[in-house]
Amino acid sequence: MSVQKVVVVGGVAGGASAAARARRLCEDAEITVFERGPHVSFANCGLPYFIGGEIVGHDSLLLQTPESLRARFNLDVRCQQEVVAIDRAAQRVKVRDLATGHDYEEAYDALILSPGAAPLKPPIPGIDRPGHFTVRNIPDAEKIMAWLKGVPGARAVVVGGGYVGLEMAEQLKHRGLAVTVVEALPQVMAPLDPEMAAWLHQELRANGVTLHLSDCVAAFEAPANGEQARASVVVLKSGKRIEADAVILGMGVRPEISLAKDAGLEIGALGGIRVNERLQTSDPHIWAVGDAIEVRDAVTGAWSLVPLAGPANRQGRIAADNIFGRHSRYRGTWGTAILRLFNLTAGCTGANEKVLRKAGIAYQAVHLHPDSHAGYYPGAEEIALKILFASDTGKLLGAQAVARAGVDKRIDVLATALMSGLTVQDLAELELAYAPPYGSARDPVNLAGMIASNVLAGDVDVAQWSEVAALASDTALLLDVRTDEERRKGSISGSIHIPLHQLRSRLAELPKDREIIVYCRSGHRSYYACRMLVQRGFRARNLTGSYRTWKTATTVDAPH
Ligand code: FAD
Repeated sequence: MSVQKVVVVGGVAGGASAAARARRLCEDAEITVFERGPHVSFANCGLPYFIGGEIVGHDSLLLQTPESLRARFNLDVRCQQEVVAIDRAAQRVKVRDLATGHDYEEAYDALILSPGAAPLKPPIPGIDRPGHFTVRNIPDAEKIMAWLKGVPGARAVVVGGGYVGLEMAEQLKHRGLAVTVVEALPQVMAPLDPEMAAWLHQELRANGVTLHLSDCVAAFEAPANGEQARASVVVLKSGKRIEADAVILGMGVRPEISLAKDAGLEIGALGGIRVNERLQTSDPHIWAVGDAIEVRDAVTGAWSLVPLAGPANRQGRIAADNIFGRHSRYRGTWGTAILRLFNLTAGCTGANEKVLRKAGIAYQAVHLHPDSHAGYYPGAEEIALKILFASDTGKLLGAQAVARAGVDKRIDVLATALMSGLTVQDLAELELAYAPPYGSARDPVNLAGMIASNVLAGDVDVAQWSEVAALASDTALLLDVRTDEERRKGSISGSIHIPLHQLRSRLAELPKDREIIVYCRSGHRSYYACRMLVQRGFRARNLTGSYRTWKTATTVDAPH
């Protein structure tokens, strides 16, 4: 296919990177980018921080302008021009100039669709009331800031506990608002498993955010006489009523597919544009990238929707490669993501337990709580780290981490390991940079690999925090091997206590006809105990993550 004319729909993450790559591959092509909004190539990921005041001035969010893209890449970038139809037979798009309402046509040899995803707005009564906002672009952010201006002490309700909702909650709090988050699921941040999300629940509450889990909005009502809400009274299914001066709708996004659908392009079962591994749609002259497409989950192989900036940027480059004869392949999406929430960072990569169960993949999970760097060097913070791996081969399947420090580098190492198909034995052997201020001679990633390798080798079996409640006293015994002092501060009810240093001399107190589930603070000492017990003929399992994981996961999330 000879390509002289490339048309790109959408000028932000996927679209801008596709257009720039196209120019680098072909100096002669005519490349036109249509963008419905007033800005191209803006940092939508920075919007919450702009609203919160950490990023000052919207110019910092403008990575490029039509002028800079023309000067550097000779791109014809047209803002406030919406592509309203595709004539596939004639290879033309119909474009509406939103300033004048005038329609015109533009021909293409190759068309790249990167229209993104629109915030979800389910048909909840009152959802369009004044003072309700979604966050997708700079004008949205400016509307929120204008609404909040001059209302000190305003109360915001954020509907949805995904990463946009949580970033908004943090940033509104930063602006001095009283913030409530309402989440329909029992946890925030769905990509995390519940015991990992529990750390975020604690952090939200510790920072004064009111959190309503397992509850959803039934209606947004106009404030009645006597109610002071400036926007709405948010009525929850549970019957609770929350006065709000502003409402942020962060209930997720849905792919923008109307253009593709009207043109008869194949749409997948999840509602995204279907593409092949070259990111070509069902029409060989049309490519699609970014939030609008369905991608293969790189771990399970299932189709999925993963609206993240990294994949959109990679896909833009790959689509342009293929248009200009390079055979780049999109290998799928691992869903590597990171979130700052007040003093915590949460990161994840690959599959979580829900995804693995749904895919029918046999896995094991281990938890650990290592320090972010050498414990003897000041400032080390404990990381809650979880890895998931294949029960048979030990291949890494996913990882999650939450901590005040050290999450970003561990998640990025684990994401790289995941993409490379490494096993937990490989993780144990990774040679990672170490000096006391940065890590440990056995980095948390090495430790995770060692612990998982022990499980895989059959040196120790693990029990999960979620199994504890169902343990029957006639078949299982919970054994706490922590110190007396630790025990005094709290324990798992029904457990017996033998500190590790006394265990060898008190084995006679333990039953051989029951399984012994051993715990300590983090799973380290209980592993030693398990090794001792198993070699002495007991049936023992290590409670992985031990008291730290169990305690966080089972702390009741009573709303304020
Ligand atoms: P977009 O970047 O949304 O661009 C699509 C563009 O297409 C839009 O500007 C739209 O106006 C335009 N368009 C649509 N239809 C038409 C049409 N018919 N004609 C012309 N133009 C059209 N991801 C991360 O990985 N990390 C983060 O921290 C992060 N934070 C985020 C915070 C916020 C508030 C938001 C909204 C998103 C965040 N994301 C983050 C997600 C990330 O921004 C998206 O995954 C990424 O921008 C998707 O790129 P895209 O090109 O598919 O769509």
